[in-house]
Amino acid sequence: MQDDDVQAKLAALREQYRLRLTHDLQTLLAQTRELSTHEQGIDPESLQTLRQGLHRNAGSAGTFGYAKLGSEMRELELWLQTAMESAIAPSPPMLTAMHHRLEEILRELLETPDDAVGESRESQELASGEREVQIAVMAGELSDHLVQSLQGFGYACRKLASCHEQAPESASAQAPESMAVDALIVDAARIDESQWKATLEKMPSAMLILLSDEGGFDARLHAVRHGAQGFFNHPVDLPSLERRLRHLINLPQQEPYRALIVDDDVELAEHFRLTLKSAGIESRVITEPQAVLQGLRDFVPDLVLIDINMPGCSGPELARIIRFDDDWLKIPLIYLSAESNAKRQAQALAQAGDDFLVKPITDVALIAAVTARAQRSRQLSLALARDGLTGLIKHPAIKELIEIEMARSQRADTSACVVMIDIDCFKSINDTYGHATGDYVIRLLANLLRQRLRRVDHVGRYGGEEFVAILPSCTLVQARDAIERIRQSFAGLECVAGTQTFRASFSAGISCTRDWTDADALLEAADRAMYQAKQRGRDRVCLALAEAESPRGPDV
Ligand code: GH3
Ligand code: MG
Ligand code: MG
Repeated sequence: MQDDDVQAKLAALREQYRLRLTHDLQTLLAQTRELSTHEQGIDPESLQTLRQGLHRNAGSAGTFGYAKLGSEMRELELWLQTAMESAIAPSPPMLTAMHHRLEEILRELLETPDDAVGESRESQELASGEREVQIAVMAGELSDHLVQSLQGFGYACRKLASCHEQAPESASAQAPESMAVDALIVDAARIDESQWKATLEKMPSAMLILLSDEGGFDARLHAVRHGAQGFFNHPVDLPSLERRLRHLINLPQQEPYRALIVDDDVELAEHFRLTLKSAGIESRVITEPQAVLQGLRDFVPDLVLIDINMPGCSGPELARIIRFDDDWLKIPLIYLSAESNAKRQAQALAQAGDDFLVKPITDVALIAAVTARAQRSRQLSLALARDGLTGLIKHPAIKELIEIEMARSQRADTSACVVMIDIDCFKSINDTYGHATGDYVIRLLANLLRQRLRRVDHVGRYGGEEFVAILPSCTLVQARDAIERIRQSFAGLECVAGTQTFRASFSAGISCTRDWTDADALLEAADRAMYQAKQRGRDRVCLALAEAESPRGPDV
Protein backbone atom coordinates (compact mmCIF):
# COMPACT_ATOMS: atom_id res chain seq x y z
CA MET A 1 0.00 0.00 0.00
CA GLN A 2 1.26 3.48 -0.84
CA ASP A 3 1.92 5.89 1.99
CA ASP A 4 -0.60 8.34 0.56
CA ASP A 5 -3.14 5.60 0.44
CA VAL A 6 -2.58 4.84 4.13
CA GLN A 7 -2.80 8.54 5.00
CA ALA A 8 -6.06 8.91 3.08
CA LYS A 9 -7.51 5.88 4.79
CA LEU A 10 -6.49 7.17 8.19
CA ALA A 11 -8.03 10.56 7.45
CA ALA A 12 -11.31 8.94 6.39
CA LEU A 13 -11.30 6.84 9.54
CA ARG A 14 -10.74 9.94 11.65
CA GLU A 15 -13.62 11.72 10.01
CA GLN A 16 -15.83 8.71 10.61
CA TYR A 17 -14.81 8.64 14.25
CA ARG A 18 -15.59 12.34 14.67
CA LEU A 19 -19.13 11.71 13.41
CA ARG A 20 -19.53 8.79 15.78
CA LEU A 21 -18.25 10.87 18.70
CA THR A 22 -20.70 13.66 17.94
CA HIS A 23 -23.52 11.15 17.70
CA ASP A 24 -22.53 9.40 20.95
CA LEU A 25 -22.33 12.70 22.81
CA GLN A 26 -25.80 13.61 21.61
CA THR A 27 -27.11 10.25 22.83
CA LEU A 28 -25.42 10.75 26.22
CA LEU A 29 -26.96 14.22 26.45
CA ALA A 30 -30.42 12.81 25.79
CA GLN A 31 -29.89 10.08 28.40
CA THR A 32 -28.66 12.44 31.12
CA ARG A 33 -31.45 14.92 30.41
CA GLU A 34 -34.03 12.18 30.69
CA LEU A 35 -32.54 10.63 33.84
CA SER A 36 -32.20 13.99 35.57
CA THR A 37 -36.00 14.25 35.60
CA HIS A 38 -36.46 10.95 37.50
CA GLU A 39 -37.51 12.03 40.96
CA GLN A 40 -38.24 8.50 42.16
CA GLY A 41 -34.84 6.93 41.84
CA ILE A 42 -33.04 5.91 38.70
CA ASP A 43 -33.02 2.31 37.56
CA PRO A 44 -29.58 0.65 37.57
CA GLU A 45 -29.89 -0.53 33.99
CA SER A 46 -30.14 3.02 32.59
CA LEU A 47 -27.16 4.05 34.67
CA GLN A 48 -25.22 1.08 33.33
CA THR A 49 -26.05 2.08 29.72
CA LEU A 50 -24.88 5.62 30.47
CA ARG A 51 -21.66 4.35 31.99
CA GLN A 52 -20.98 2.17 28.96
CA GLY A 53 -21.49 5.12 26.62
CA LEU A 54 -18.94 7.15 28.57
CA HIS A 55 -16.55 4.22 28.78
CA ARG A 56 -16.62 3.50 25.05
CA ASN A 57 -15.45 6.99 24.18
CA ALA A 58 -13.10 7.40 27.14
CA GLY A 59 -11.16 4.49 25.73
CA SER A 60 -11.02 5.46 22.08
CA ALA A 61 -10.98 9.26 21.88
CA GLY A 62 -7.26 9.57 22.66
CA THR A 63 -6.30 7.29 19.76
CA PHE A 64 -7.97 9.65 17.33
CA GLY A 65 -6.37 12.75 18.74
CA TYR A 66 -9.04 13.77 21.25
CA ALA A 67 -6.95 13.04 24.34
CA LYS A 68 -8.46 15.80 26.49
CA LEU A 69 -12.00 14.82 25.58
CA GLY A 70 -11.15 11.20 26.34
CA SER A 71 -9.85 11.99 29.80
CA GLU A 72 -12.91 14.15 30.54
CA MET A 73 -15.16 11.25 29.59
CA ARG A 74 -13.06 8.96 31.79
CA GLU A 75 -13.53 11.37 34.72
CA LEU A 76 -17.28 11.39 34.22
CA GLU A 77 -17.29 7.62 33.97
CA LEU A 78 -15.36 7.27 37.23
CA TRP A 79 -17.62 9.79 38.89
CA LEU A 80 -20.70 7.82 37.87
CA GLN A 81 -19.16 4.50 38.77
CA THR A 82 -18.13 5.68 42.24
CA ALA A 83 -21.64 6.96 42.86
CA MET A 84 -23.18 3.72 41.58
CA GLU A 85 -21.00 1.69 43.95
CA SER A 86 -21.62 3.88 46.97
CA ALA A 87 -24.64 3.82 49.25
CA ILE A 88 -25.92 7.14 47.90
CA ALA A 89 -27.14 6.38 44.40
CA PRO A 90 -26.61 8.95 41.61
CA SER A 91 -29.17 11.71 42.08
CA PRO A 92 -31.00 13.89 39.52
CA PRO A 93 -28.84 16.96 40.40
CA MET A 94 -25.72 14.92 39.72
CA LEU A 95 -27.07 13.89 36.33
CA THR A 96 -27.95 17.51 35.59
CA ALA A 97 -24.34 18.48 36.36
CA MET A 98 -23.13 15.67 34.14
CA HIS A 99 -25.49 16.82 31.40
CA HIS A 100 -24.01 20.34 31.52
CA ARG A 101 -20.49 18.97 31.42
CA LEU A 102 -21.35 16.84 28.38
CA GLU A 103 -22.86 19.91 26.69
CA GLU A 104 -19.55 21.71 27.19
CA ILE A 105 -17.60 18.74 25.84
CA LEU A 106 -19.77 18.60 22.73
CA ARG A 107 -19.46 22.35 22.21
CA GLU A 108 -15.68 22.10 22.47
CA LEU A 109 -15.67 19.25 19.98
CA LEU A 110 -17.75 21.18 17.47
CA GLU A 111 -15.56 24.24 17.91
CA THR A 112 -12.32 22.31 17.36
CA PRO A 113 -11.47 22.11 13.68
CA ASP A 114 -10.29 18.71 12.50
CA ASP A 115 -6.80 19.99 11.64
CA ALA A 116 -6.28 21.15 15.24
CA VAL A 117 -7.06 17.60 16.29
CA GLY A 118 -4.39 16.40 13.91
CA GLU A 119 -1.96 18.61 15.73
CA SER A 120 -2.69 17.11 19.09
CA ARG A 121 -2.50 13.65 17.60
CA GLU A 122 0.97 14.46 16.36
CA SER A 123 1.93 15.68 19.76
CA GLN A 124 0.83 12.35 21.15
CA GLU A 125 3.23 10.63 18.80
CA LEU A 126 5.71 13.27 19.82
CA ALA A 127 5.46 12.34 23.45
CA SER A 128 5.57 8.61 22.95
CA GLY A 129 8.36 8.48 20.42
CA GLU A 130 9.79 5.40 22.06
CA ARG A 131 8.47 1.90 21.59
CA GLU A 132 6.39 0.36 24.31
CA VAL A 133 8.48 -1.65 26.73
CA GLN A 134 6.91 -4.89 27.98
CA ILE A 135 7.49 -5.80 31.60
CA ALA A 136 6.25 -8.83 33.51
CA VAL A 137 6.14 -8.94 37.30
CA MET A 138 6.12 -11.97 39.64
CA ALA A 139 6.18 -10.50 43.11
CA GLY A 140 3.26 -11.98 45.02
CA GLU A 141 1.30 -9.39 46.96
CA LEU A 142 3.67 -6.62 45.86
CA SER A 143 2.86 -7.16 42.20
CA ASP A 144 -0.12 -4.83 41.98
CA HIS A 145 1.77 -1.91 43.42
CA LEU A 146 4.76 -2.47 41.12
CA VAL A 147 2.59 -2.93 38.04
CA GLN A 148 0.60 0.20 38.76
CA SER A 149 3.70 2.31 39.42
CA LEU A 150 5.56 1.12 36.33
CA GLN A 151 2.50 1.71 34.18
CA GLY A 152 2.55 5.26 35.49
CA PHE A 153 6.02 5.56 33.98
CA GLY A 154 4.65 4.52 30.62
CA TYR A 155 5.72 0.87 30.57
CA ALA A 156 3.35 -1.85 29.42
CA CYS A 157 3.41 -3.89 32.58
CA ARG A 158 1.47 -6.91 33.77
CA LYS A 159 1.54 -9.28 36.64
CA LEU A 160 2.07 -12.99 36.28
CA ALA A 161 0.52 -14.88 39.14
CA SER A 162 2.34 -17.70 40.81
CA CYS A 163 0.51 -21.01 40.98
CA HIS A 164 -0.39 -20.41 44.65
CA GLU A 165 -2.43 -17.38 43.74
CA GLN A 166 -5.78 -17.06 42.10
CA ALA A 167 -5.42 -14.35 39.53
CA PRO A 168 -8.04 -14.21 36.82
CA GLU A 169 -5.72 -12.67 34.24
CA SER A 170 -3.31 -15.59 34.33
CA ALA A 171 -4.23 -18.72 36.16
CA SER A 172 -0.65 -19.90 36.21
CA ALA A 173 2.80 -18.49 35.76
CA GLN A 174 3.00 -20.10 32.37
CA ALA A 175 3.67 -17.35 29.88
CA PRO A 176 2.60 -17.83 26.28
CA GLU A 177 5.42 -19.19 24.14
CA SER A 178 5.64 -16.10 21.99
CA MET A 179 5.59 -13.59 24.83
CA ALA A 180 7.96 -10.75 23.90
CA VAL A 181 8.88 -9.47 27.33
CA ASP A 182 11.75 -7.03 27.80
CA ALA A 183 12.16 -7.53 31.52
CA LEU A 184 10.92 -9.94 34.15
CA ILE A 185 10.88 -8.64 37.72
CA VAL A 186 10.88 -11.44 40.27
CA ASP A 187 10.59 -11.23 44.01
CA ALA A 188 12.94 -14.04 44.98
CA ALA A 189 11.61 -14.00 48.54
CA ARG A 190 8.05 -14.69 47.48
CA ILE A 191 8.24 -16.81 44.34
CA ASP A 192 9.73 -20.31 44.09
CA GLU A 193 12.96 -20.39 42.16
CA SER A 194 11.84 -23.31 39.98
CA GLN A 195 8.72 -21.42 39.10
CA TRP A 196 10.25 -18.14 37.97
CA LYS A 197 13.01 -19.98 36.15
CA ALA A 198 10.44 -21.89 34.12
CA THR A 199 8.72 -18.60 33.29
CA LEU A 200 11.99 -16.92 32.34
CA GLU A 201 12.84 -19.74 29.95
CA LYS A 202 9.75 -18.88 27.96
CA MET A 203 10.90 -15.28 27.59
CA PRO A 204 14.12 -15.45 25.61
CA SER A 205 14.44 -11.69 25.23
CA ALA A 206 13.71 -10.80 28.85
CA MET A 207 16.27 -9.38 31.26
CA LEU A 208 15.92 -10.57 34.82
CA ILE A 209 15.59 -8.22 37.79
CA LEU A 210 15.56 -9.84 41.21
CA LEU A 211 14.07 -8.37 44.35
CA SER A 212 15.25 -9.77 47.64
CA ASP A 213 14.90 -9.45 51.40
CA GLU A 214 18.63 -10.15 51.75
CA GLY A 215 21.01 -7.35 50.93
CA GLY A 216 24.35 -9.05 51.54
CA PHE A 217 27.13 -10.08 49.22
CA ASP A 218 25.94 -13.69 49.00
CA ALA A 219 22.48 -12.69 47.83
CA ARG A 220 24.02 -10.51 45.13
CA LEU A 221 26.37 -13.27 44.04
CA HIS A 222 23.42 -15.64 43.86
CA ALA A 223 21.57 -13.14 41.67
CA VAL A 224 24.54 -12.70 39.35
CA ARG A 225 24.88 -16.48 39.01
CA HIS A 226 21.25 -16.67 37.96
CA GLY A 227 21.88 -14.14 35.23
CA ALA A 228 20.12 -11.21 36.94
CA GLN A 229 20.89 -7.81 35.49
CA GLY A 230 19.35 -5.87 38.31
CA PHE A 231 19.10 -6.49 42.05
CA PHE A 232 17.03 -4.59 44.59
CA ASN A 233 16.31 -4.93 48.27
CA HIS A 234 12.97 -4.45 49.93
CA PRO A 235 11.53 -1.89 50.24
CA VAL A 236 12.21 -1.32 46.54
CA ASP A 237 13.28 2.19 45.64
CA LEU A 238 11.03 2.80 42.67
CA PRO A 239 13.01 5.59 40.98
CA SER A 240 16.16 3.42 41.06
CA LEU A 241 14.28 0.43 39.69
CA GLU A 242 12.85 2.55 36.91
CA ARG A 243 16.26 3.99 36.09
CA ARG A 244 17.74 0.52 35.95
CA LEU A 245 15.02 -0.61 33.56
CA ARG A 246 15.61 2.36 31.32
CA HIS A 247 19.34 1.68 31.25
CA LEU A 248 18.85 -2.00 30.53
CA ILE A 249 16.13 -1.86 27.96
CA ASN A 250 16.02 1.51 26.45
CA LEU A 251 19.66 2.42 26.46
CA PRO A 252 19.72 5.71 24.64
CA GLN A 253 21.63 5.56 21.41
CA GLN A 254 25.10 6.80 22.15
CA GLU A 255 26.06 9.69 19.90
CA PRO A 256 29.27 8.84 18.02
CA TYR A 257 32.43 10.29 19.53
CA ARG A 258 33.83 13.30 17.72
CA ALA A 259 37.47 14.15 17.15
CA LEU A 260 38.85 17.32 15.60
CA ILE A 261 42.11 16.63 13.72
CA VAL A 262 44.48 19.55 13.22
CA ASP A 263 47.31 18.62 10.86
CA ASP A 264 48.88 20.41 7.89
CA ASP A 265 49.53 17.08 6.16
CA VAL A 266 46.30 16.78 4.19
CA GLU A 267 46.68 13.13 3.16
CA LEU A 268 47.74 11.93 6.60
CA ALA A 269 44.91 13.82 8.26
CA GLU A 270 42.48 12.26 5.81
CA HIS A 271 43.90 8.83 6.60
CA PHE A 272 43.30 9.43 10.32
CA ARG A 273 39.79 10.61 9.59
CA LEU A 274 38.94 7.49 7.61
CA THR A 275 40.56 5.20 10.18
CA LEU A 276 38.49 6.74 12.95
CA LYS A 277 35.39 6.64 10.77
CA SER A 278 35.83 2.89 10.33
CA ALA A 279 35.44 2.62 14.12
CA GLY A 280 32.34 4.82 14.18
CA ILE A 281 34.19 7.93 15.39
CA GLU A 282 33.27 11.10 13.55
CA SER A 283 36.05 13.51 12.81
CA ARG A 284 36.70 16.74 11.03
CA VAL A 285 40.05 17.74 9.55
CA ILE A 286 41.51 21.24 9.87
CA THR A 287 44.70 21.92 7.94
CA GLU A 288 45.03 25.62 8.81
CA PRO A 289 45.63 26.26 12.55
CA GLN A 290 43.84 29.63 12.20
CA ALA A 291 40.57 27.81 11.54
CA VAL A 292 40.64 25.80 14.77
CA LEU A 293 38.48 28.08 16.96
CA GLN A 294 35.72 28.14 14.38
CA GLY A 295 36.09 24.36 14.01
CA LEU A 296 35.63 23.90 17.76
CA ARG A 297 32.49 26.03 17.78
CA ASP A 298 30.94 24.31 14.77
CA PHE A 299 31.90 20.74 15.48
CA VAL A 300 31.98 20.65 19.32
CA PRO A 301 34.39 17.69 19.48
CA ASP A 302 35.02 15.35 22.41
CA LEU A 303 38.76 15.79 21.86
CA VAL A 304 41.29 17.50 19.59
CA LEU A 305 44.27 15.77 17.92
CA ILE A 306 47.00 18.30 17.19
CA ASP A 307 50.13 17.95 15.09
CA ILE A 308 53.23 19.50 16.69
CA ASN A 309 55.05 20.89 13.69
CA MET A 310 52.89 23.10 11.56
CA PRO A 311 53.92 26.15 9.57
CA GLY A 312 52.92 29.49 11.10
CA CYS A 313 51.82 28.12 14.47
CA SER A 314 53.18 25.15 16.40
CA GLY A 315 50.99 22.55 18.10
CA PRO A 316 51.83 23.74 21.66
CA GLU A 317 51.11 27.35 20.66
CA LEU A 318 47.79 26.30 19.23
CA ALA A 319 46.99 24.33 22.41
CA ARG A 320 47.62 27.44 24.50
CA ILE A 321 45.38 29.51 22.25
CA ILE A 322 42.59 26.96 22.73
CA ARG A 323 43.10 27.03 26.51
CA PHE A 324 42.58 30.83 26.60
CA ASP A 325 38.92 30.08 26.16
CA ASP A 326 37.07 28.70 29.22
CA ASP A 327 34.57 26.97 26.96
CA TRP A 328 37.18 24.44 25.80
CA LEU A 329 38.90 23.82 29.13
CA LYS A 330 37.44 20.36 29.52
CA ILE A 331 38.29 19.09 26.04
CA PRO A 332 41.41 16.87 25.95
CA LEU A 333 44.11 18.17 23.61
CA ILE A 334 46.22 15.29 22.33
CA TYR A 335 49.41 15.82 20.37
CA LEU A 336 49.79 13.47 17.47
CA SER A 337 53.29 13.94 16.21
CA ALA A 338 56.40 12.36 14.79
CA GLU A 339 58.29 13.95 17.67
CA SER A 340 59.89 11.03 19.46
CA ASN A 341 62.28 13.00 21.61
CA ALA A 342 61.01 12.56 25.17
CA LYS A 343 62.40 15.88 26.33
CA ARG A 344 60.69 17.83 23.57
CA GLN A 345 57.47 15.89 24.21
CA ALA A 346 57.62 16.89 27.87
CA GLN A 347 58.23 20.52 26.90
CA ALA A 348 55.18 20.49 24.63
CA LEU A 349 53.03 19.02 27.39
CA ALA A 350 54.34 21.54 29.90
CA GLN A 351 53.00 24.38 27.77
CA ALA A 352 49.53 22.96 27.28
CA GLY A 353 47.96 19.73 26.10
CA ASP A 354 47.08 16.54 27.90
CA ASP A 355 48.76 13.64 26.18
CA PHE A 356 51.12 12.57 23.44
CA LEU A 357 50.63 9.98 20.68
CA VAL A 358 53.66 9.27 18.52
CA LYS A 359 53.48 8.86 14.75
CA PRO A 360 53.63 6.45 13.09
CA ILE A 361 50.75 4.98 15.02
CA THR A 362 48.89 1.84 14.00
CA ASP A 363 45.23 2.17 13.15
CA VAL A 364 44.25 -0.03 16.08
CA ALA A 365 46.31 2.03 18.54
CA LEU A 366 44.86 5.29 17.20
CA ILE A 367 41.28 4.07 17.54
CA ALA A 368 41.90 2.70 21.03
CA ALA A 369 43.59 5.90 22.21
CA VAL A 370 40.94 8.20 20.79
CA THR A 371 38.05 6.07 22.06
CA ALA A 372 39.39 5.90 25.60
CA ARG A 373 40.01 9.65 25.82
CA ALA A 374 36.75 10.63 24.16
CA GLN A 375 34.83 8.37 26.51
CA ARG A 376 36.49 9.85 29.55
CA SER A 377 35.96 13.35 28.24
CA ARG A 378 32.28 12.74 27.69
CA GLN A 379 31.81 11.10 31.09
CA LEU A 380 33.46 14.07 32.74
CA SER A 381 31.46 16.69 30.94
CA LEU A 382 28.25 14.74 31.62
CA ALA A 383 29.09 14.46 35.30
CA LEU A 384 29.89 18.18 35.47
CA ALA A 385 26.65 19.20 33.79
CA ARG A 386 24.38 16.77 35.65
CA ASP A 387 22.62 17.13 38.94
CA GLY A 388 23.66 14.48 41.49
CA LEU A 389 20.20 13.59 42.82
CA THR A 390 18.35 13.26 39.53
CA GLY A 391 20.98 12.93 36.82
CA LEU A 392 19.25 15.78 34.99
CA ILE A 393 21.01 18.74 33.43
CA LYS A 394 21.93 21.44 35.96
CA HIS A 395 20.68 25.00 36.05
CA PRO A 396 23.47 26.76 34.07
CA ALA A 397 23.54 24.12 31.36
CA ILE A 398 19.79 24.17 30.86
CA LYS A 399 19.83 27.98 30.60
CA GLU A 400 22.47 27.68 27.92
CA LEU A 401 20.34 25.14 26.08
CA ILE A 402 17.36 27.51 26.17
CA GLU A 403 19.50 30.14 24.47
CA ILE A 404 20.70 27.67 21.86
CA GLU A 405 17.17 26.47 21.19
CA MET A 406 15.82 30.02 20.99
CA ALA A 407 18.48 30.95 18.42
CA ARG A 408 17.96 27.75 16.48
CA SER A 409 14.21 28.11 16.24
CA GLN A 410 14.51 31.77 15.19
CA ARG A 411 17.03 30.83 12.52
CA ALA A 412 15.02 27.93 11.18
CA ASP A 413 11.67 29.66 11.73
CA THR A 414 10.32 26.74 13.76
CA SER A 415 8.78 26.78 17.18
CA ALA A 416 10.14 25.29 20.39
CA CYS A 417 8.62 25.37 23.86
CA VAL A 418 9.99 25.86 27.34
CA VAL A 419 8.21 24.28 30.29
CA MET A 420 8.66 25.32 33.91
CA ILE A 421 7.52 22.68 36.38
CA ASP A 422 7.24 23.00 40.16
CA ILE A 423 6.07 20.29 42.54
CA ASP A 424 3.02 21.38 44.53
CA CYS A 425 3.14 21.89 48.28
CA PHE A 426 6.53 20.23 48.40
CA LYS A 427 7.39 21.78 51.72
CA SER A 428 4.53 19.90 53.32
CA ILE A 429 5.74 16.61 51.76
CA ASN A 430 9.10 17.23 53.42
CA ASP A 431 7.44 18.23 56.68
CA THR A 432 5.06 15.27 56.75
CA TYR A 433 7.23 12.43 55.46
CA GLY A 434 10.78 13.71 55.86
CA HIS A 435 13.44 15.11 53.57
CA ALA A 436 14.46 11.68 52.19
CA THR A 437 10.92 11.09 50.97
CA GLY A 438 10.97 14.58 49.44
CA ASP A 439 14.11 13.58 47.54
CA TYR A 440 12.38 10.40 46.42
CA VAL A 441 9.49 12.43 44.99
CA ILE A 442 11.96 14.66 43.13
CA ARG A 443 13.61 11.61 41.59
CA LEU A 444 10.25 10.09 40.76
CA LEU A 445 9.28 13.15 38.74
CA ALA A 446 12.74 13.40 37.15
CA ASN A 447 12.48 9.82 35.92
CA LEU A 448 8.95 10.31 34.67
CA LEU A 449 9.98 13.37 32.66
CA ARG A 450 12.93 11.52 31.19
CA GLN A 451 10.82 8.53 30.34
CA ARG A 452 7.92 10.40 28.81
CA LEU A 453 9.59 13.17 26.87
CA ARG A 454 11.24 12.59 23.49
CA ARG A 455 14.95 11.99 23.01
CA VAL A 456 15.33 15.39 21.39
CA ASP A 457 13.87 17.13 24.42
CA HIS A 458 16.05 18.40 27.26
CA VAL A 459 15.10 18.18 30.92
CA GLY A 460 16.93 20.01 33.66
CA ARG A 461 16.63 20.41 37.41
CA TYR A 462 16.28 24.12 37.77
CA GLY A 463 16.23 24.32 41.55
CA GLY A 464 15.06 22.29 44.57
CA GLU A 465 11.73 20.96 43.30
CA GLU A 466 11.69 22.92 40.06
CA PHE A 467 12.36 21.48 36.63
CA VAL A 468 12.71 22.99 33.17
CA ALA A 469 12.05 21.12 29.94
CA ILE A 470 12.88 22.31 26.44
CA LEU A 471 10.85 20.79 23.63
CA PRO A 472 12.27 21.58 20.18
CA SER A 473 10.07 21.51 17.02
CA CYS A 474 6.92 21.69 19.06
CA THR A 475 3.92 24.03 19.15
CA LEU A 476 2.29 25.35 22.29
CA VAL A 477 -0.65 22.99 21.82
CA GLN A 478 1.58 19.96 21.33
CA ALA A 479 3.65 20.87 24.37
CA ARG A 480 0.54 21.37 26.45
CA ASP A 481 -0.85 17.97 25.49
CA ALA A 482 2.44 16.21 26.23
CA ILE A 483 2.89 17.91 29.63
CA GLU A 484 -0.76 17.46 30.50
CA ARG A 485 -0.40 13.70 30.01
CA ILE A 486 2.68 13.68 32.22
CA ARG A 487 0.83 15.75 34.83
CA GLN A 488 -1.94 13.17 34.93
CA SER A 489 0.51 10.28 35.23
CA PHE A 490 2.43 11.96 38.02
CA ALA A 491 -0.71 12.77 39.97
CA GLY A 492 -1.69 9.10 39.65
CA LEU A 493 1.60 7.68 40.92
CA GLU A 494 1.57 6.29 44.41
CA CYS A 495 4.48 7.61 46.46
CA VAL A 496 5.68 5.38 49.27
CA ALA A 497 6.92 6.63 52.64
CA GLY A 498 7.53 3.67 54.95
CA THR A 499 4.15 2.12 55.48
CA GLN A 500 2.24 5.16 54.24
CA THR A 501 1.40 6.09 50.68
CA PHE A 502 0.44 9.47 49.25
CA ARG A 503 0.14 11.28 45.94
CA ALA A 504 1.98 14.37 44.74
CA SER A 505 1.24 16.79 41.90
CA PHE A 506 2.94 19.54 39.95
CA SER A 507 2.03 22.83 38.32
CA ALA A 508 3.52 23.79 34.96
CA GLY A 509 3.80 26.86 32.74
CA ILE A 510 4.68 26.70 29.05
CA SER A 511 5.96 29.37 26.69
CA CYS A 512 6.78 29.20 23.00
CA THR A 513 9.78 30.68 21.17
CA ARG A 514 7.45 32.25 18.59
CA ASP A 515 5.94 34.58 21.19
CA TRP A 516 9.09 35.98 22.82
CA THR A 517 12.17 37.67 21.46
CA ASP A 518 14.90 36.39 23.77
CA ALA A 519 15.69 33.42 25.99
CA ASP A 520 15.25 35.32 29.27
CA ALA A 521 11.80 36.56 28.30
CA LEU A 522 10.87 33.06 27.18
CA LEU A 523 11.85 31.52 30.50
CA GLU A 524 10.22 34.30 32.53
CA ALA A 525 7.00 33.80 30.59
CA ALA A 526 7.01 30.07 31.40
CA ASP A 527 7.68 30.94 35.05
CA ARG A 528 4.78 33.42 35.16
CA ALA A 529 2.45 30.87 33.58
CA MET A 530 3.57 28.33 36.20
CA TYR A 531 2.69 30.78 39.00
CA GLN A 532 -0.66 31.31 37.35
CA ALA A 533 -1.19 27.54 37.55
CA LYS A 534 -0.37 27.73 41.28
CA GLN A 535 -2.80 30.59 41.80
CA ARG A 536 -5.56 28.75 40.01
CA GLY A 537 -5.36 25.85 42.41
CA ARG A 538 -2.17 23.91 41.44
CA ASP A 539 -2.00 20.49 39.69
CA ARG A 540 -2.53 22.07 36.28
CA VAL A 541 -0.78 23.37 33.17
CA CYS A 542 -1.02 27.02 32.06
CA LEU A 543 0.13 28.52 28.78
CA ALA A 544 1.94 31.84 28.42
CA LEU A 545 0.37 33.61 25.49
CA ALA A 546 2.08 36.58 23.87
CA GLU A 547 0.88 39.78 25.57
CA ALA A 548 -0.79 41.06 22.42
CA GLU A 549 -2.98 37.97 22.24
CA SER A 550 -4.21 37.66 25.78
CA PRO A 551 -3.35 39.22 29.10
CA ARG A 552 -4.09 35.94 30.87
CA GLY A 553 -2.94 32.51 29.83
CA PRO A 554 -5.60 29.83 29.54
CA ASP A 555 -5.19 26.67 31.51
CA VAL A 556 -6.12 23.15 30.70
P1 GH3 B 1 4.10 25.48 46.01
O1 GH3 B 1 2.99 24.52 45.76
O2 GH3 B 1 3.64 26.88 46.03
O3 GH3 B 1 5.22 25.29 45.05
O4 GH3 B 1 4.64 25.16 47.47
P2 GH3 B 1 5.98 24.45 47.89
O5 GH3 B 1 5.86 24.01 49.31
O6 GH3 B 1 6.30 23.39 46.91
O7 GH3 B 1 7.06 25.58 47.69
P3 GH3 B 1 8.18 26.20 48.56
O8 GH3 B 1 9.06 26.92 47.56
O9 GH3 B 1 7.62 26.98 49.70
O10 GH3 B 1 8.97 24.99 49.18
C1 GH3 B 1 9.92 24.27 48.49
C2 GH3 B 1 10.64 23.43 49.50
O11 GH3 B 1 11.49 22.50 48.85
C3 GH3 B 1 11.53 24.21 50.41
C4 GH3 B 1 12.81 23.41 50.51
O12 GH3 B 1 13.12 23.10 51.84
C5 GH3 B 1 12.52 22.14 49.75
N1 GH3 B 1 13.64 21.63 49.00
C6 GH3 B 1 14.46 22.30 48.15
N2 GH3 B 1 15.37 21.48 47.60
C7 GH3 B 1 15.13 20.24 48.10
C8 GH3 B 1 15.75 18.96 47.92
O13 GH3 B 1 16.70 18.78 47.15
N3 GH3 B 1 15.23 17.91 48.61
C9 GH3 B 1 14.18 18.06 49.45
N4 GH3 B 1 13.71 16.99 50.08
N5 GH3 B 1 13.59 19.26 49.66
C10 GH3 B 1 14.06 20.34 49.00
MG1 MG C 1 9.51 26.08 44.16
MG1 MG D 1 6.72 23.88 44.87
